Amino acid sequence: MKYFILFGPPGAGKGTQAADMVTEYDLHHISTGDLLREEMMNRTELGLKAKSLIESGALVPDEIVEGMIESAFNTPEDIDGFLLDGFPRTTAQAEALDRILEKRGESVNAVIGLNVPDALIKDRMHGRARTEGRADDSNDAAINNRIKTYHEQTEPLIDYYKAAGKYIEIDGTGSIDEVHDAIFEQMDKFYE
Ligand code: AMP
Repeated sequence: MKYFILFGPPGAGKGTQAADMVTEYDLHHISTGDLLREEMMNRTELGLKAKSLIESGALVPDEIVEGMIESAFNTPEDIDGFLLDGFPRTTAQAEALDRILEKRGESVNAVIGLNVPDALIKDRMHGRARTEGRADDSNDAAINNRIKTYHEQTEPLIDYYKAAGKYIEIDGTGSIDEVHDAIFEQMDKFYE
């Protein structure tokens, strides 16, 4: 089983690229953001707890997303591996992921990191607010908070995965097709 992480700031285009990757490489897509939005839509206890944090652009507590990931790994399916999108977002989550995978005798194969500057992220989130109607894309305070949270809590993971020799940087500023091609060029190397 292979384990890939699609990494990058909010609004980098991870969801769009993940959709193509899972089809091409027979991966199961796990997006903690999608899972949390589903909980919110179904008004579960967890969803209600997460709602105000998500809408303000803060992260939900590590234990919540770690639990979601562990149960998502147990979803039996005829697949070649998993693509994590939006997880891990903190060093504690990355360490938890290593422990969860170790218990399964597995490890992260590679982290595909989309590099996109803040100004472009903001443009893309404003665009997405018009098409997807996400509350956390439609207000500037939430957008700025998500970008700040990314720099403070998530970006340090780049060094974490570089130290493990697993980080592959992709220029995420091009068109959807250009970024797609750059990702696939790297992913293909794991299937030679
Ligand atoms: P996303 O769709 O990945 O941009 O996630 C939307 C929101 O869900 C984030 O701004 C966080 O509030 C929450 N979230 C998603 N994934 C995580 C995670 N791994 N850790 C903590 N919070 C998360």
